[in-house]
Amino acid sequence: MFEATASRRQFFRGTGMTVGTLAGLGLDLKPARAAAENLKTKIHGAKEYASVCPYCAVGCGQIVSVRDGKIVNIEGNPDSPISRGTLCPKGSASYQLAVNPNRLTKVKYRAPFATEWEEKPLDWAMERIAQLTKKTRDETFVEKWEGQDREGKPVQKTVNHCAGIASLGGATMDNEWNYVQLKLARALGLIYLENQARI
Ligand code: SF4
Repeated sequence: MFEATASRRQFFRGTGMTVGTLAGLGLDLKPARAAAENLKTKIHGAKEYASVCPYCAVGCGQIVSVRDGKIVNIEGNPDSPISRGTLCPKGSASYQLAVNPNRLTKVKYRAPFATEWEEKPLDWAMERIAQLTKKTRDETFVEKWEGQDREGKPVQKTVNHCAGIASLGGATMDNEWNYVQLKLARALGLIYLENQARI
């Protein structure tokens, strides 16, 4: 994240000019003014950092406002040559991803053949995933592929792959996480790699 260069005052001045022009056309601008006032209060005294939406490869610019070490607002960056202040609904909801009291901090686990879900801590889940990943990889790793060529002669090729695990990414995972996950998957020899957010 970089500290935002354009002052928020400039932005509001620009917004005010637009609002003034629209008011001349007879449009009701009270909601827009109220939203601008709310935002001013929300980010008062906060430090602003220019950042990039974490979600997809469009790379829309964001301004992240931080006060006392905590994120207080995330919005589109009007200085971004890519998005010019706009964000799609997902990017607009970035703040709710970072700051959310409803965010789950424990996992639900249902043991094989069990009918009830149990609540488990994240550390427990991480350890279990790591153990099962190692076990499955060891059991399904293939170093050499053996087959036949067109003439029916035996052929052996080095493949070093693991077809027992698949990696599926999702749209709520950010770019950095997807990058690291793909690196890990390839290092393990996984060949079934997919992501729902391929745009
Ligand atoms: S998720 Fe939306 S806001 Fe974020 S970079 Fe992609 S298009 Fe832009």
